[in-house]
Amino acid sequence: MAEEKNMSSDVMIQIRGLKKSYGKLQVLRGIDLDVKRGEKVVILGPSGSGKSTLLRCINALEEADSGSILVDGIEVTSRRTNLNHLREHLGMVFQRFNLWPHLTVIENVMIGQVVVGHKSKAEAREKALAMLDRVGLKDRADEYPVRLSGGQQQRVGIARALAMDPKAILFDEPTSALDPELVGEVLAVMTQLAREGMTMVVVTHEIGFAREVADHVIFMDGGVIVEEGTPEEVVVNPREERTRAFLKHVL
Ligand code: ADP
Ligand code: MG
Repeated sequence: MAEEKNMSSDVMIQIRGLKKSYGKLQVLRGIDLDVKRGEKVVILGPSGSGKSTLLRCINALEEADSGSILVDGIEVTSRRTNLNHLREHLGMVFQRFNLWPHLTVIENVMIGQVVVGHKSKAEAREKALAMLDRVGLKDRADEYPVRLSGGQQQRVGIARALAMDPKAILFDEPTSALDPELVGEVLAVMTQLAREGMTMVVVTHEIGFAREVADHVIFMDGGVIVEEGTPEEVVVNPREERTRAFLKHVL
């Protein structure tokens, strides 16, 4: 059974003192972070700063060395927690879509609902169609992923996450693998989700998205949070030299 901890109910994700190393390499050196229900947090930072590792610890794809992570009161870092249950309610959207090539678009959106969510096929199909409609791809339901553009494949990835009725969605550089002309359609779907109140943690280099959509921006470097605040504070008027240097590089 999941272990429930006292946590203010408006906090969806609470991280305290999170550390993670690979051998001698300290990748996360003590991360503290709260994500409130409905909040949009954007994480910026150079390659290798630990952003993906942080997301992977949140949904238990990686095991933390120390510290605690609570998701909606469920302790990710406890042995007693049912991790399948956790992952079922925490959507993940990857840089490289990770769609099954041998399944059609709708089957890709159905499979998690059937295998993990134990829904009937009919129920899963209905939900999948509704989610594909939400990302503007209902008419492509019976195609195979290879027939879709990268932007469309990523929108299927988002529909797949949504189909599980997630409490929050973690995005790991969702537009970094896309040709520039396809980035906009994916950001548009993400912006729409944000407006609808989804709790989102987004690792991205899209500074415009951070400015427009984020409630809270975090700049990470070397496994620590160097600076955080509103988009105005972190993106427009950064205090730290490392943040300024990074922004100069990506803008
Ligand atoms: P980012 O997403 O910010 O680019 P990552 O979290 O992917 O950073 O990686 C942080 C560091 O950890 C990098 O130096 C990377 O090479 C290393 N790393 C990530 N995953 C592993 C792993 N499974 N084994 C060993 N080293 C890893
Ligand atoms: Mg990464």
